[in-house]
Amino acid sequence: MLTGRKYLLDLTPEQAAFAERISGACRAVWNTALEQRRTYRRREAFIGYHEQARQLVEAKREPELEWLAEVPGHCLQQTLIDLDAACTRHGTWRVHWKSKTRTRPSFRFPEGGKITVERLNRRWARVKLPKLGWVRLRWTRPLGGAVKNATVLCEGQRWFVSFLVDDGIQTPVRHAIPETAIGVDRGVAKIVTTSQGRFHHKVFATGREIEHAAKLQRDWARTRKGSNRRRRAARRVEAFAAKIRRRRAAFAAKTAHMLTLDHDLIVFEALKTKNMTATVAPKPDPERPGAFLPNKAAAKSGLNRAILDKGWHRIELAVRSKARYTGTSVITVNPVNTSITCHECKHVEAKSRKSQAVFVCASCGHRDHADVNAAKNILTAGRAELAQARPAARVGARKPRSRVGRKANRQATAVQDLATASPGLAGISRH
Ligand SMILES: [Zn+2]
Repeated sequence: MLTGRKYLLDLTPEQAAFAERISGACRAVWNTALEQRRTYRRREAFIGYHEQARQLVEAKREPELEWLAEVPGHCLQQTLIDLDAACTRHGTWRVHWKSKTRTRPSFRFPEGGKITVERLNRRWARVKLPKLGWVRLRWTRPLGGAVKNATVLCEGQRWFVSFLVDDGIQTPVRHAIPETAIGVDRGVAKIVTTSQGRFHHKVFATGREIEHAAKLQRDWARTRKGSNRRRRAARRVEAFAAKIRRRRAAFAAKTAHMLTLDHDLIVFEALKTKNMTATVAPKPDPERPGAFLPNKAAAKSGLNRAILDKGWHRIELAVRSKARYTGTSVITVNPVNTSITCHECKHVEAKSRKSQAVFVCASCGHRDHADVNAAKNILTAGRAELAQARPAARVGARKPRSRVGRKANRQATAVQDLATASPGLAGISRH
């Protein structure tokens, strides 16, 4: 099956500068091609990948666009393919622009056959990428399969390469240990609680680190727009956020490994993505018309969100990915009332949840850890759902529920319409 392998790159200063130029060109192609698609849509016409790819070839012949011709052509083409996929999936109006400062630089080499990876010694290997040449990478794990494509990306101030490899492993027909279903409750105090009463938790940023992050953000806010100091400050903020993200990814991967290894069925509650991703509504000030009261929007965005985020969705993604190796089934159920229902007598009452951790049933007096009780209810709901569905649905249930998924995508890609005239791909400019 297809899986990812990510390695830290050790680029020379020239390679790093070239990588920046490649990602800049890809960004320019993305934004121009997206604008072109929108312009066509405004005229109730349509332009697709093939026509855009043809125009790109023409654009590269223009003498003033030699910066476009210098970068690997396949990366630019791949950008158009990715844009096409994004527009098909989310609709032209919901696809994001790529920003110079806010989007992480990245580009992809689609042809795995043209990518050679060689081991140099115990700690280092090198990869030959079209036009970039040999690039050293920190060898932390074997590739374990044939390379399908390679994505080069910058996180914080570090460049990484992520290979998509085919490891040739097939998903087992059934899990090695049958009848080992669990329910999983995701929360804040404990990130993951299982119906067996086990907790998986990690603090992603210590108190001192949070103070440090606040200082980094204050430093950034004090700099002038467009200055070099601002760029440096932004890089430090981004590097910190990247560190937190790596910790969260590691936690998700480890948790997913432990859960899938021992269980043939994992039941999650479907996440209420609306509350998680929606922007905070503005609060008009009743005393001053046109002015607004603080609405705690800052607390839900940027670095704060990176720190507060528990990675609930990432855990589910990691579990679904690992489940392909163990044959574990993963399903989601409606989370309604799971935290206030008594698992023993099924009595539903909000008062039963005495505190964050304590559940005492108001009807039968059953005591349990509140999250464990919720996880047990999630498991019961999952079993009920499976019993209702036909046996074949159990395999199908691994896919994310399309209705929930579409809704999440819609919210995640709410974009503003920059109503500017499209110059077409030939009028591409370097921003
Ligand atoms: Zn009860």
